[in-house]
Amino acid sequence: MEAYLYEPLEENKVKCNLCSHRCVVKDGRRGICGVRENHSEILKTLVYGKLIARHIDPIEKKPLFHFFPGTLSYSIATVGCNFRCRFCQNADIAQMPTDHKGAIMGESFAPSEVVAGAERGRCQSISYTYTEPTVFFEFAYDTAKLAHQKGIRNVFVTNGYMTAEALNMINPYLDAANVDLKAFSDKYYKELCGAKRKHVLETLKLMKSLGIFVEVTTLIVPGLNDERAELKELATFIRNDLGSETPWHISRFHPTYKLTDRPSTPVETLKIAREIGLGVGLKYVYTGNVPGDEGENTFCCNCGQMVIERWGFQVGKLRMENGHCTTCGANIDGVWA
Ligand code: SF4
Repeated sequence: MEAYLYEPLEENKVKCNLCSHRCVVKDGRRGICGVRENHSEILKTLVYGKLIARHIDPIEKKPLFHFFPGTLSYSIATVGCNFRCRFCQNADIAQMPTDHKGAIMGESFAPSEVVAGAERGRCQSISYTYTEPTVFFEFAYDTAKLAHQKGIRNVFVTNGYMTAEALNMINPYLDAANVDLKAFSDKYYKELCGAKRKHVLETLKLMKSLGIFVEVTTLIVPGLNDERAELKELATFIRNDLGSETPWHISRFHPTYKLTDRPSTPVETLKIAREIGLGVGLKYVYTGNVPGDEGENTFCCNCGQMVIERWGFQVGKLRMENGHCTTCGANIDGVWA
């Protein structure tokens, strides 16, 4: 299928404007993501409807904690990614074209089949997740549009590297996003992910200004992005540029893929990061990948009452009504049923 958002250049080249790499792709070649190919000046997406993963997940798994808690999200992915994170937890599918000589696998689905699956599974949303949804944008866009017609919401779980053009295009159908803000140093983004931090910050700010509901996730990797000063800078960016009501998920690293030379993140480090986030004034800071930790729960930012209890991805007791704490009546930020 012909891709969206590209332009022809001289000598049969094309420029892809879907993500901030803005690849110039020669005839017969693919972009960095490995799933968009120039066929004689026509850029084609090679992954339209080729789903490599399709599951019904709790929305908490995205993670989104302030967006219809306790509901199910129909979750899909194709292969491919525009980042090269050395710690990728889904490298077998995300990096498949890169690591396996351009291989693209997946079962063919139409947008209508995905939406029907979400309806059958009583899912309130469809999540474009596991790999990077930007690189299967055309399918996500067509599916999201159809989903809205059926009253189903759409969620991107993303590295935030789409261009403003792409984001503006999908904005009418995109309800929420969990965006990775992987670190607060340019060096980390360049050396560990093959990307530029500034573009992610731009996307986050644009999402907020467009009214897309945003939660942020940071995977803390020992020795690479766990300095207190950097965490404080990152948390301060969220507070100042996205708003103190933006939930921040601090997630635990485990050695995987190309990053196996260091241990899992100590739970203590996550607790320190959470204190830093709360200390700069963020209202909702969560520790991830640590089931049973206090930092999984939502507390009222006014009276401190636990308003949503969680265990892993399970939601327990809710002590809020119509988005307000039942103890003190304060507003709890989010999008509630
Ligand atoms: S989506 Fe990004 S990585 Fe893929 S071809 Fe387009 S600009 Fe390049």
